[in-house]
Amino acid sequence: MPGTVVITGGSRGIGAATAMLAARRGWHVALSYRERPDAARQVVQRCEQAGVRALAVQADVADADDVQRLFDTVGDELGAPNALVNNAGIVGPRQRLEDFATERIERVVAVNLVGTILCTRAAVRRMSVRHGGSGGAIVNVSSRAAVLGSANEYVDYAAAKAGVDTLTVGLSRELAEDGIRVNAVRPGLIDTEIHAPGRLERLSRTSPLGRPGKAEEVAAAILWLLSDEASYTTGALVDVGGGW
Ligand code: NAP
Repeated sequence: MPGTVVITGGSRGIGAATAMLAARRGWHVALSYRERPDAARQVVQRCEQAGVRALAVQADVADADDVQRLFDTVGDELGAPNALVNNAGIVGPRQRLEDFATERIERVVAVNLVGTILCTRAAVRRMSVRHGGSGGAIVNVSSRAAVLGSANEYVDYAAAKAGVDTLTVGLSRELAEDGIRVNAVRPGLIDTEIHAPGRLERLSRTSPLGRPGKAEEVAAAILWLLSDEASYTTGALVDVGGGW
């Protein structure tokens, strides 16, 4: 069903791989980023080389005004979106909970969970057949951490991602009549810049598949969930975790 997809955090990692695969599949692509305009510009160029329209908007998903501006810009430049990938996410430093700074806790929940809710609200107001839209699909990028818990490292992040899982299930039921499917992918250890140095190599050796995943392997699952091939799939939490 290609049309226009909004991908938050599309300048690097899983979001960038998703943007480029979406473009190759014929989607017009709008991506958001926070602080690396050069990386975002490169992804836009790669998408355009695939023959689709693409744009990048600097917008913090945790800021309601930024989110409003992101979706207004997409509407003006590319038309109403029919797909959203809530991908932007962060972790704090690896720490036990009693050492967490208050700002870290607030920011981790704000970006991973509140940001997902704010972007979804903006998308639903434009995509829902209830509001004159054409319907579509939403994919939330959760994490296997939502199940495993990230003890001694990022329990705040894991809890926020568990919230994303619950949001996915609830919204899949709430939005079915609006013509919108809602699913999530839960990546395991994926080779991106989100990891502290050495963490990926150390942990992925012991995983069942014995290696880290690639951003493109997560993007493939996301693009399937967005596609008409997944037309009867909603409320699913798809693990892309190499066996974890
Ligand atoms: P990454 O390489 O660190 O990329 C993060 C992306 O998010 C960048 O494009 C960044 O923009 C953007 N971003 C960060 N904070 C933002 C904000 N407040 N507003 C808008 N954009 C923001 O991360 P990744 O590994 O690809 O992670 C993508 C998603 O997958 C996240 O939700 C993460 O939790 C999830 N995930 C990752 C793994 C893994 O092993 N990599 C595992 C499970 C789940 P800038 O370029 O401007 O900084």
